Amino acid sequence: MKKILIILTVAAIMAAGIILTACTDKDINDDCLTYDMKLSLTENVITGEQTVRYKNIYVDGLGQTTFHLYANAYNEDAANPAYTTELSSYGGIEIDSVSVNGNPAEYVLSEDKEYMTVSHEALKKGDEISFVINYRTTVPEGNLRLSMLNGSYTLSGFYPQMSVYDGEGFRTDKFSAVGDPIYSSCGDYTVSFECDQSLVVCSSVKTSGISTSGERQTISFNGSNIRDFAIVCNANYNVINGKAGEVTVYYFYENDENAQETLNLAVRAVETYGKAFGAYPFDTYTVARVPFVCDGMEYSGLSLIANNCVDVTETVLHETAHQWWYGAVGSDPINESYMDEGLATFSAAYYYELIGESDKFVEEMKSIKRAYLSYERLQQKRNSGICLAMNKPIYEFTEYQYQMVEYYKSCMMFDNLREIFGDEKFAECLKQYYEDNKFGIGGLEAFRAAGEKTMGDIKGLTEAWIGEKVVATTFAEE
Ligand SMILES: [Zn+2]
Repeated sequence: MKKILIILTVAAIMAAGIILTACTDKDINDDCLTYDMKLSLTENVITGEQTVRYKNIYVDGLGQTTFHLYANAYNEDAANPAYTTELSSYGGIEIDSVSVNGNPAEYVLSEDKEYMTVSHEALKKGDEISFVINYRTTVPEGNLRLSMLNGSYTLSGFYPQMSVYDGEGFRTDKFSAVGDPIYSSCGDYTVSFECDQSLVVCSSVKTSGISTSGERQTISFNGSNIRDFAIVCNANYNVINGKAGEVTVYYFYENDENAQETLNLAVRAVETYGKAFGAYPFDTYTVARVPFVCDGMEYSGLSLIANNCVDVTETVLHETAHQWWYGAVGSDPINESYMDEGLATFSAAYYYELIGESDKFVEEMKSIKRAYLSYERLQQKRNSGICLAMNKPIYEFTEYQYQMVEYYKSCMMFDNLREIFGDEKFAECLKQYYEDNKFGIGGLEAFRAAGEKTMGDIKGLTEAWIGEKVVATTFAEE
């Protein structure tokens, strides 16, 4: 995500009879996670029926599976709301039924309604399981990740999404209005989406067909290794597209005098990052303008840019970089959000170095350093006692601290590694990190492993940056 920030300082129905298909070699993800969704949007309600399948690679005797119900963070009485100001209408998700391997299943919601845990027969390692979940999601009015405003729909986190199993169990982190508390594993998605024919629709994955019936249309989508699935639609969208090698890049917008320029930038960013970090990970890439509370937001294969975005160029570069650092290489967004936000912030500046505009790269980095160092000095001067460590849960940050520490300080850490080990080795490290963790979960340890292979031991240096004791001014020259 990219926050709007003005720097003032210095600026399938699982009917009995459907047989679970075994994972094949084509599956990159070990858990063979798949989502088959039938969705229907009528006004502000999505009716969904989804089949989720996965292979238990986690633990013998796994007797329950947890799904994240992100949509309930938009409830009026949400325990941990996704909104910070009152909404004109609220949202939420109602589960109508759940079945497991064709039989009705028992499920319970957590007290805060953010999770649903489904009980099932104990699975041995290697067993596959299939859930059919019927639900209805109400879309709130607003400019959020799940909302509609003046005919523009932003639909993400509207479906029950399997929680990440992290070795001790399924993660059940609470929602947070600060940061991007969305944590998921990559899976293959097959989606049919029915809606009013007047809507121009785009999503995280490629469109494979459209059929119409009366006033309605049904659009089919499919995509592999998607970390999350999102749909954006608006009757007033214009769309243009271009090619970044084999990848088709789309730009959906209502009003943009510089539309072709915006598309060209997205195309060039896909090409440039692809060459630097490794091939673009998805079939298509879509940039869509939406009414949005922040400057931008990333999903696999899809970036949202706010209609009133302060800096479209920087935001397109930042969100496009997230296709590598979030979309493909996941990381724990609760405890290690500096990994994808820092890398995306760094990549947006590094883009200029990669296209041969070194001066602009230096200038961008200077402005980031200046903003962060001013912030850090101010904390020292005021004796504010604010902890400047990066490795804190997102719940411990205010919006501003989060931006300064998880985006800027982290970005400076990556730039410092580049300065110390040299651009060539650092570039190799980014490639290695991407290659080793593509479609999986990366993070600090995985980055250190990539660093070890390409640069040397980076544990001490990264520890100093991440911790609160050492101030960045020790490392960074203005
Ligand atoms: Zn971001």
